[in-house]
Amino acid sequence: MNYPRVIRISDILDQIQGYLPGANTHLVEKAYVFAARAHAGQIRKSGEPYLAHPLAVAYILAQMRMDLPTIAAGLLHDTVEDSAVTLEDIRRHFGEEVALLVDGVTKLSALPQASRLQREAENYRKMLLAMAQDLRVILVKLADRLHNMRTLEFQPEEKRRRIARETLDIYAPLASRLGIDWLKQELEDLSFRYLYPEDFRRLKAEVEKRVEAAQDYVEEVKRIIRERLAEQGIEARVLGRTKHLWSVYRKLERYGLTIEELDQIYDLIGFRVIVKTVKECYEVLGIIHALWPPIPGRFKDYISMPKPNLYQSLHTTVMGPEGKRVEIQIRTEEMDRIANEGIAAHWLYKEGRVLTPGQGRKFEWLERLVELQKELQNPREFLESLRLDLFPEEVYVFTPKGDIKVLPRGATPVDFAYAIHTEVGHHCVRAWVNDRLVPLDHELHTGDVVRIETSPSQKPSRDWLKFVKTSRARSRIRQWLRQEEREQALALGREVLGREFRKHRHQLADFLDSPLAVKVAQSFNFKTPEEMIAAVGYGKLTPYQVLRRAFPEEKPLPPRTTEKETDSRDYRAQGEVLSVDGMRDVLFHLSRCCHPVPGDEVIGYITRGRGISVHRVDCPNVALLDEERKIEVRWEKSNGAVHPVKLSVLTQDRKGMLAEVSGAITAAEANILKAEVDTTPDRRAIFHLVVEVTDREHLERIMNNLRSVKGVLRVRRLFS
Ligand code: MN
Repeated sequence: MNYPRVIRISDILDQIQGYLPGANTHLVEKAYVFAARAHAGQIRKSGEPYLAHPLAVAYILAQMRMDLPTIAAGLLHDTVEDSAVTLEDIRRHFGEEVALLVDGVTKLSALPQASRLQREAENYRKMLLAMAQDLRVILVKLADRLHNMRTLEFQPEEKRRRIARETLDIYAPLASRLGIDWLKQELEDLSFRYLYPEDFRRLKAEVEKRVEAAQDYVEEVKRIIRERLAEQGIEARVLGRTKHLWSVYRKLERYGLTIEELDQIYDLIGFRVIVKTVKECYEVLGIIHALWPPIPGRFKDYISMPKPNLYQSLHTTVMGPEGKRVEIQIRTEEMDRIANEGIAAHWLYKEGRVLTPGQGRKFEWLERLVELQKELQNPREFLESLRLDLFPEEVYVFTPKGDIKVLPRGATPVDFAYAIHTEVGHHCVRAWVNDRLVPLDHELHTGDVVRIETSPSQKPSRDWLKFVKTSRARSRIRQWLRQEEREQALALGREVLGREFRKHRHQLADFLDSPLAVKVAQSFNFKTPEEMIAAVGYGKLTPYQVLRRAFPEEKPLPPRTTEKETDSRDYRAQGEVLSVDGMRDVLFHLSRCCHPVPGDEVIGYITRGRGISVHRVDCPNVALLDEERKIEVRWEKSNGAVHPVKLSVLTQDRKGMLAEVSGAITAAEANILKAEVDTTPDRRAIFHLVVEVTDREHLERIMNNLRSVKGVLRVRRLFS
C-alpha cells in the first residue's frame, strides 16, 4: 500500500479539472479557506496540522470524481463536530446542499459505537444508510474512514484494533454494497494489517515471493491471450493482478490451510481481459475455452446476472500453461469502471456525458441506476436490496449500551421497551430519547438512543394499544390485560355469587372449602371452582344456576328481588352480544341513564356485583364514574332485540301533526311506546316520544323519517 503524500488544495483542484474541465471550483476553494480557519492550531496524532485530514478526504472524493458540493463537504466534514463552527454557519456560507451533507456526516459520527457483536453489523450498516438519506453522505464517511485507516498507526493499540474491527464489519461491506471495489479492498487490507499484524506481515511476504517467482508465467499467459485475440481481430487490454491479501487470507481460512500451505490455492494472480462490447466478452470466453480447458463449475456469467451492487463480468477458471489453474475475468471498459467505482461511477457520468454539478441530488443516482437496471436481466434482486436500505420500513435505535434494536417505522418507546424484555414493557413509566424526556407514544427515529425507566407499580394500559406498532408489544399488552380481566371476572364472580348465596342463607366460603364445590364445577364442565367463579363473572353462568346445582333439594326463592337488579336488563338473555376486548359473554346490562342501543359508541363500567353496565360515551354520568373501573366494550352484533329510546321532536303546531309524526315512525317499522305533546305560546309543539329500536341504524332511519315530515323543526335523542 502506498500512502499518498501530503495533499494540497491545488492537488484537489487539479484532480477536479481532470473530470470536470473548466468547472468553477470557487465553492471548493472557499470551503478550503473556511476549514483552514476552523481547524487552525489543531494537530492530529500524527503531528500534522489537522487540516491535512479534511484535505486528504476531499482528495479521495475527487479521485472518486464526486460533484463539487460533496468535495466541499469533505473539506468541511469535521468543522461542526471539532470546532466552534455551527451548522448554521455552514448553511450561510455554503448553502443548503453542502450544509445537509455536512450535517449528515456529523450525525453519523455522533452515533454510538457499533457494538462488537457481529450479528449487529448488518443492522448497523442499514442504519447508516437509512440515516444518511443522501448517499453522498456515506461516500464522504467512507473517504473519512479510509484516511483514518491510512493513518491508524498513530493511534494507541487498543483504539487501532477497535477501529480496524469496525472498518472490517461495517465500512468495508458498505463499500462493497455500493460496488466500490478498490475502496473495499483497501479498507479490508488495512483492517487486516491492524487486526492480525503478524499474519498480515507473513502472508504479505509469502505472496510477494510467489508473485515475484510467477512473473514470467504471468507475462506468458498475457502474451498468449493477447496474440490469440489479435488473430480474431479483437482489441483488448489484458491485465494480471495480485489478489488483495484479505481475500487470500479468507480463502486460506475457508480451506483450513495455514499461510505456509499457500501453494495449495492457485489463484493468487487473476487475469482480466477488457474489451469494447458485450458481444466481444462472449467471443473472448469462447476463444479462451478453446485455448485451455475450462474447469467445470467455475464459470459464472455476471453479465446476464449482475451482482446486487451492479457488478458485471464473466468469470472462468481454466487449466492454463504447465497445467496450472488460471482465473480469468472478462468484461467491457464500462463494466470495469463500475466494478472499480461502483455507485460513484454513476455520479457524474452517464454514457460518457458529464452532468452539471448540482444535478446529483438526493436519490437521483437511484433513478439513474433504475434506468440502467432496465437494460439488465435481473434487476429485481438489486432493487430490493437498495430499497430495503434506503426507504426502510424499519427504524434502527440504540439501547444505552449501544445494542441496536430494529423496529417498524412509527415505533414508540413502549415498543422498544417490549423489544428489550416483557417485564420492561409492562413496567415502563418514562422514556428518554437522546437524553430528552419524551411521551410514551413518541415516534422513534433511526439513530435515537432510547432509555426506559421502569417502576414496579406501573401496569400496561389499554391506551398503549392505540399507538404501539410491534406485534410483540401488542400481544404482550393484550395478554396482560386478559389476565387482569380474568382477575376482575373472578372478583366479580365471587361478589355476585356471594350475594346470591347469602340471600339463600349459605356461605360462599364454606361452599368453596367443601368437596361439593369441585363436584358442582365439574358438573358444568369446569376443571376447578375458580374457573366456575370466573365464568359467573364473565356472565356465562348465573349465580342462581350455581346455587341450584349446589343445593338442588332446596325450594327456590323467587328470583331477582332487588330494585337495582330489576332495573338492569341482562342482554345475554335478549340475544344481544357485547364484548370486552374480544371476549364475549361477560355479564352486561345497558344503563338506564342513557339507553344505549347497538351501534352506539359505548363504554363499560365494572359495577360492584352487577357485572358491567354499559353507557353511551357521551352520557353525562360517564364523567362521574371511577376511571379505574371503566373498561372498553364493543357491540358484536344485534339479534333484533328492541330498546327504548327517548326522542324529542319540535314542530310547528298544526292539525294532523301527531298523525304524521307517528306515521313517520311506523314507516320505519318501529313501535311507539309513549307519546306526549306540549304546545308552546309561540305556536310550536314538542313531542316527547319513546320508541323501540333495534340498533343505531334503525334509530337514524326513524330520525331521518321524522325530519322529512313537513313542519318538523328539530329531532333530538334524549338521554333519559
Ligand atoms: Mn474526519
